[in-house]
Amino acid sequence: MNLQNLIKKQNRPFLISGPCSAETEKQVFSVCQDIAKNTNTSLIRAGIWKPRTRPDSFEGIGEIGLKWLVDAGKSVNLPVTTEIANAKHVESAINAGVDVLWIGARTTVNPFAVQEIVDALKGTKIPVMIKNPINPDLSLWLGAFERFMKADLNDLTAIHRGFSVYKHPKYRNAPSWEIPIAFKQNLKEIPMICDPSHISGNRNLLLEVSQKAMDLNFDGLIIETHPNPERAWSDSEQQITPMILKELMNDLILRTSIVEASLNDELQDFREKITLLDDRLFEILSIRMKLSEEVGIFKRKNNITILQEEHWKKVIESRLSTADDFYLTEIFVRKFMDSLHQESIRHQIKVMNPDLKKSNDL
Ligand code: PEP
Ligand code: MN
Repeated sequence: MNLQNLIKKQNRPFLISGPCSAETEKQVFSVCQDIAKNTNTSLIRAGIWKPRTRPDSFEGIGEIGLKWLVDAGKSVNLPVTTEIANAKHVESAINAGVDVLWIGARTTVNPFAVQEIVDALKGTKIPVMIKNPINPDLSLWLGAFERFMKADLNDLTAIHRGFSVYKHPKYRNAPSWEIPIAFKQNLKEIPMICDPSHISGNRNLLLEVSQKAMDLNFDGLIIETHPNPERAWSDSEQQITPMILKELMNDLILRTSIVEASLNDELQDFREKITLLDDRLFEILSIRMKLSEEVGIFKRKNNITILQEEHWKKVIESRLSTADDFYLTEIFVRKFMDSLHQESIRHQIKVMNPDLKKSNDL
């Protein structure tokens, strides 16, 4: 099968669902029946080898589950996919008749492992989905795709599953939407699927994350479903039944990225106003940076260091405390002020150490 064509052909969102892990033959068959009956799933997922963070968790049922998955898929006439992490997994999955493979976030981080999988797949036509690496590194994610394309393996799809952070206040994995957006700008032809289950880590957030992915024009969703989520052997908090998945899909609002001619003028008006405002913002930023250079010259003359930590702390705190008044989120204000500060330091370094002018990497 050709997965890219299937995704393109189908109405958005292309839906992938199935359990986090295959647990028993009965569980795999029952969830596949429910999925086929109640949802418009196009591809069924189930993990056979599970890369768990801690060794005492369930690490997957292993090879025996491949047959359950393939047979259950056939019984409902749907293709199936599983995660592979090395050449041995590739061989077993292909021999068992798995239709699509996916590479997990803990494998994408490792170019040796990715290359081993590429070498094992060379010459085949099997579609591969590549999840983002656990760390927010766009190049590493793109690099995995480049390894496949260099081996003439081109039926590739990306899965955005969020990025690992220590104690995120809301998500299991921070979505950092700017990274899949940048990915799409680099590799336009690759379909982008969102994995709200692993971003959320919690079933209550699934609709919110799925809606955001749709509003960002993602091609599809991969959502973990289980006949009895509370009793699931892995990722129990984030799984839902196929019936709940059906409700979630009904609640999703699908918007189009194509602007009808009749709406174009009005949208154009808004855009022009925004461009004018952005022009003003950039003019102000440019004046602001010239002032930073004057400060740099002043500091050079008086032998004062560029970074004045206490001062900067106060500036950030004061901006954060008024974020709400300006209708801005604290996250944005912090990121914006940090980038402003970095750029200001760059300008100060330029005048402070003219010989290092070319070094732009602070
Ligand atoms: C999974 O899909 O079950 C999984 C292990 O995902 P990830 O690689 O995103 O952690
Ligand atoms: Mn999972």
